[in-house]
Amino acid sequence: MIKEIEAKVLLAHVKQPDTWFGLKYNMNLYRGCQHRCIYCDSRSQCYGIDHFDREILVKVNAIDLLREELARKRVKGPIGLGSMNDPYMPVEEQLNLTGRALQVIAQYGFPVHIITKSDLVLRDLETLIKINERYAAISFTITTADDGLGKKVEPGAPLVSDRLKAMRVLADHGIRTGVTMMPILPFIEDSVENISAIVARAHEYGASYIIAGFGMTLRDRQRAYYYSRLDRLFPGLRDRYVRRFGDSYHCEPNDGAMLRGLFSDLCARYGIAARIPLYASEAAEQLSLF
Ligand code: SF4
Repeated sequence: MIKEIEAKVLLAHVKQPDTWFGLKYNMNLYRGCQHRCIYCDSRSQCYGIDHFDREILVKVNAIDLLREELARKRVKGPIGLGSMNDPYMPVEEQLNLTGRALQVIAQYGFPVHIITKSDLVLRDLETLIKINERYAAISFTITTADDGLGKKVEPGAPLVSDRLKAMRVLADHGIRTGVTMMPILPFIEDSVENISAIVARAHEYGASYIIAGFGMTLRDRQRAYYYSRLDRLFPGLRDRYVRRFGDSYHCEPNDGAMLRGLFSDLCARYGIAARIPLYASEAAEQLSLF
């Protein structure tokens, strides 16, 4: 179900420094996500999003709010999209909320970083090219190189192969693009074959960086949902999780040290950075204010 809501504020300040993505602000145009990844952390109790993938809340006043808020900002720091939901989930195709927000961002000259699992991002290619005159980075989340396994663990998201093709187009247009390779699900995705295939595919399709997060986190509602999906998709696996991880929040992959070493070696071999190239001009802009 799609429901409209009015937001009071749109841009949230990101705790500084943000060493992962270099963000200054974060923005969510929706609440809830139609991609229905079985491992999604946004289901956790602390975020208070009930009916996470059954009721999508759309912030209908988002574009007006964004315009007002950007006009008041003195520092043009990077804006992040895609932390609590996917800005290119299926409903975006009709509503074009992300597309319109990017046009406003381009108009006001702010940099962006987007995390997505969707090739729908290519619809906004022209706007992203304009934003990239300052800075744009698009990170595709890829946890498996296998389309079949991807459909199991990320049932509402586009195929991994389609994400990779979109990455190629962005790279060919000079836009920074790469992979957020997280989570890596224990007993499902933590194999030499999977990590090797993701890095090889990422290289083939133009990734300049891969940000890796080995293992996964699990807590309360997120864990309950994940285990219910394991029962359906991977019978018997829940018991192995319970035995191995108990109530732990962080769940390490099998042979984690070996996989991390393999990942580093492969990135070095292909010339892929393990960090995103951050937006560099913010300090200079701050200085210019004085
Ligand atoms: S795309 Fe991201 S936010 Fe959406 S369900 Fe998957 S992990 Fe959660």
